[in-house]
Amino acid sequence: MKRLVILGGGESGVGAALLGKEKEYNVFLSDAGKIAKKYKDVLRHNEIEWEEEGHTESKILNADVVVKSPGIPDGVPLIQKLHKATISVISEIEFAAAFTTANIIGITGSNGKTTTTLMVHQILKQAGLDVAIGGNIGESFAKQVLNSNANYVLELSSFQLDGIEKFRPHIAIITNITPDHLDRYDYKFVNYIASKFRIAMNQTSDDYLIYDADDEVIVSYINTHPIQSTLVPFSLRRKVTNGTYLEQNNIIIEFNNRDIIMPTTNLALEGKHNIKNAMAASTVAHLLKIRKATIRESLEGFQGAEHRLEQVLTINKVQYINDSKATNVNATYYALESMNTPTVWIVGGVDKGNDYKALFPFINEKVKAIICLGKDNEALFDAFGNMVENIIETQYMSEAVKIAYKIATAGESVLLSPACASFDLFENYEDRGHQFKAAVRQL
Ligand code: ADP
Repeated sequence: MKRLVILGGGESGVGAALLGKEKEYNVFLSDAGKIAKKYKDVLRHNEIEWEEEGHTESKILNADVVVKSPGIPDGVPLIQKLHKATISVISEIEFAAAFTTANIIGITGSNGKTTTTLMVHQILKQAGLDVAIGGNIGESFAKQVLNSNANYVLELSSFQLDGIEKFRPHIAIITNITPDHLDRYDYKFVNYIASKFRIAMNQTSDDYLIYDADDEVIVSYINTHPIQSTLVPFSLRRKVTNGTYLEQNNIIIEFNNRDIIMPTTNLALEGKHNIKNAMAASTVAHLLKIRKATIRESLEGFQGAEHRLEQVLTINKVQYINDSKATNVNATYYALESMNTPTVWIVGGVDKGNDYKALFPFINEKVKAIICLGKDNEALFDAFGNMVENIIETQYMSEAVKIAYKIATAGESVLLSPACASFDLFENYEDRGHQFKAAVRQL
């Protein structure tokens, strides 16, 4: 019996444990922190051995294979020891992929992964395909592999891609690449870019790599590295060959045959970034030969995900928008770009070394007031202090929303789009978004 050791008892770890058990591995799961009750129950019920609040090395260094949670950095001593002992350390994605021959669609990028993954999943489902969604979203891929679906749509973070060896999606998407998570990449953007491109490293010319051809980082990487995949670009700005582009505001896909998918004005989600996401998703559908009527209907009816430019309420003709998932500048860029009213902007949190310059034009054009919501707001005051008359700070969501309520007048909007991580004042971005919505509903 082969020994499978899993480090990290979250969704992906527990999924890998279940799959490992089914495939007759001797499974041991170890977590340095506490494991949530619901996962402990699953482990107990399935008679899988586990430990929490520490790693017993003697039970780990005898592994044949180790599945590491994406949350654990490569630099920690235990992982270094495993590397030294030449024990293979992989991600749950790599482990699970070995047990399925299904068609895999993998989606990565700095922003837009979840939205695009949900779009692709919805179109495939609406087309009547047997499809499951997984990866960074919903239930783990490993657990879903137990159900033997014919197609998987997977949201993949760079950390998950760092742990692949043979994983080969038939269709891959890179939505965009902007600096993020650099603390895990020796503060080198090139390392992070290379990590994203691992999604294509095992692809052959029978597989497809769909990418944003307007993204200079992506294009320059493609131009300077050998990539075997069949390339399928999409662009908002120009007509691309063998790819997807706009013509008189219609999404056109020209790959093998030409399809006029739909006018962008009929897309359910607003914002240029969502046109891009819709282009990427419809390109997948086109490659899978799904009828354009199905693509159109799916995208017209697509409900956005919570905390992503989510319309909360309109109070006294002021629209409140929750974009708590915007944890970096690029995501907030698209949020501000999509605003077409004067905006009271709630921003702040853990600043990951943000460069706010890209946002300046929007501040002048449409930001009426800035409410800084973070423990340390100095960087925000430095960047925006001279740009708006009204810049205020608070450490409470309820107060931030009340101040916004006082400032905004009919026809204007209040936007929570923090451009920062949430961990200084909130548990996570979901908690931040929920608190925002609760405060708005109490107005
Ligand atoms: P991810 O899963 O990659 O974090 P999401 O779909 O959850 O992406 O969106 C995260 C944030 O980025 C949201 O604030 C959203 O409005 C914004 N966003 C979505 N798609 C894009 C895109 N293509 N480019 C830039 N920002 C985007």
